[in-house]
Amino acid sequence: MQANIKKHIKTENDKKPQCPHRKKCGGCQLQNLSYEKQLSFKQVKVIKLLGRYHHVCEIIGMENPYHYRNKVQAAFGERGKEIISGVYQSSTHNIVPVDSCMIEDQKADEIIVTIRKLLKSFKMRAFNDVTMKGFLRHVLIKRGFASGEIMVVLVTAVMDFPKESQFVNALLSRHPEITTIVQNVNNKRTSLVLGEQSRVLYGDGYIEEHLCGLKFRISPKAFYQINPIQTEVLYGKAMEFAALTGNETVLDAYCGTGTIGMIASKNAKSVVGVELNPDAVKDAVTNAKLNGVENIEFICDDAGKFMVRAAENGEKFDTVIMDPPRAGASLEFLRSLVTLSPKKIVYISCNPETQARDLSFLTRKGYKVRRIQPVDMFPHTEHVESVVCLSREKADDYIRISVHTKDLQAKAN
Ligand code: SAH
Repeated sequence: MQANIKKHIKTENDKKPQCPHRKKCGGCQLQNLSYEKQLSFKQVKVIKLLGRYHHVCEIIGMENPYHYRNKVQAAFGERGKEIISGVYQSSTHNIVPVDSCMIEDQKADEIIVTIRKLLKSFKMRAFNDVTMKGFLRHVLIKRGFASGEIMVVLVTAVMDFPKESQFVNALLSRHPEITTIVQNVNNKRTSLVLGEQSRVLYGDGYIEEHLCGLKFRISPKAFYQINPIQTEVLYGKAMEFAALTGNETVLDAYCGTGTIGMIASKNAKSVVGVELNPDAVKDAVTNAKLNGVENIEFICDDAGKFMVRAAENGEKFDTVIMDPPRAGASLEFLRSLVTLSPKKIVYISCNPETQARDLSFLTRKGYKVRRIQPVDMFPHTEHVESVVCLSREKADDYIRISVHTKDLQAKAN
């Protein structure tokens, strides 16, 4: 594929865009390309950025690249007397009304339309972010692809919820498939969707999802991969690259709700997960209990700071799996990673640009890239995920250094 890719991939339109909102929304940048060409575009992007380190395997795409998003959020507002819901026009705060989106879960879209109609019949107001008046700001929906569970989060400007139980009952009677409803209060002038305070209006306040043979609890704020089908593909590749034998100590850095670490724990001696978001860590601890996993612990901290401490304390990890946000890893993290000197690093990234920057550091410090696998987690958008496997340039570097240190110590004694 790599040889033919460039001529194949001039970004000329080869397909009529399907979405009437494409210009204002701006979310699906590649929708004017056939799916095959989208994949080629992403393959070229990864080759351009990472190809100098190793051959790039062919990107793994989706069989059905539509309605894959299991997390959907809509902004609410008013236009004249009408309540509208949809997405923000790119780089503005204008709401583009959207009732159905080709990449979002269809059930979630239906529920959002129902909520908009209910607001009208309950004579409730949507929020106005100029006057800071009104009630409903956003609706966030998370759906368990395998479990079927659905969480609806109503983000309101104030805690007082007029006719709360009637509203909740009306929503449930129209969508009995909803398993939990949460109210979240966001009274700040901010572009963040969720505020600090939450209150469960119905059900448990979280959903459970099944992935790679394990159960995961997902709360409103915790990060969870948004494309469940491709997540299994991505994690499968990460595990293949890690090739754990049951004897390794593993670090899952930027672990979210502990998904990767828990999958790894089945074939590892022990796993430590580190994550900054306390809600995600809480979920991760619960998830470990839920699945009876005992060889894993989670630490709530900045991954960079954790690594510095681990390096200072002389901790040992055989394998480090890292999955940082778009900004990539901090220099602090990378420096300590090199000091910790794991035999293997599996680096999952949703931004090949920062991954290329970080690989440049790691390859200058004695690591060699062994595999590169792009995965299409976000069809129709320009985003691409890639998994890279690195190990020390010389497999015995790690052993030699420790023997050498022992010898020195023996001499010193
Ligand atoms: N590995 C997880 C989550 C990946 S997303 C999964 O596959 O589901 C990246 C995660 O990094 C998020 O959960 C985010 O909260 C966390 N994060 C962001 N900055 C961080 C930092 N400085 N230290 C630790 N975790 C961080």
